Amino acid sequence: MTVTLDHSPHYFNLKGEDFQVKENIKGTLHFSLLGNDVVMKGTLRTRIEMECIRCLEPMEIPIDKRFTLTYIHKKKRERGDFNIKEEEDDASYFDGFTIIPDMDIRELILFDLPDYPKCREDCLGLCPQCGCNLNEGPCPCGKPETSSPQREKNWKDQLKQIHPK
Ligand SMILES: [Zn+2]
Ligand SMILES: [Zn+2]
Repeated sequence: MTVTLDHSPHYFNLKGEDFQVKENIKGTLHFSLLGNDVVMKGTLRTRIEMECIRCLEPMEIPIDKRFTLTYIHKKKRERGDFNIKEEEDDASYFDGFTIIPDMDIRELILFDLPDYPKCREDCLGLCPQCGCNLNEGPCPCGKPETSSPQREKNWKDQLKQIHPK
């Protein structure tokens, strides 16, 4: 059995403070029997927007994945009949009658989101002095240096001026 997905992010409760799903979740789910278990193979596609942790610019994270997830018949768990498959992360349980993969799909998508999204590996981030985006060129305040020893020195110099001894 094959199911076609074209669902709003809302359907999968896909919302968060640090990301925004920009498109419907599309893909296919193919279900097949494997003994008492059900194997779900599928594809998922959508676009998610996150903020770069360094420069705070919005960046797009395309999700385009294939996955296989095995739904193990609950009876097996009750019998304590463990096999290797159940050790794997990509396994879930079902009652033997119905499968509702919504939560699993949600997790499959969220799993692909980076913990520390960066618009590019060498993103220069924001100027510590004026906050302008250093990726867009040298900063007008003339302090594009972000190395911490320099910053610390400036900081101490400024304190000295406030409390002269
Ligand atoms: Zn960035
Ligand atoms: Zn600056």
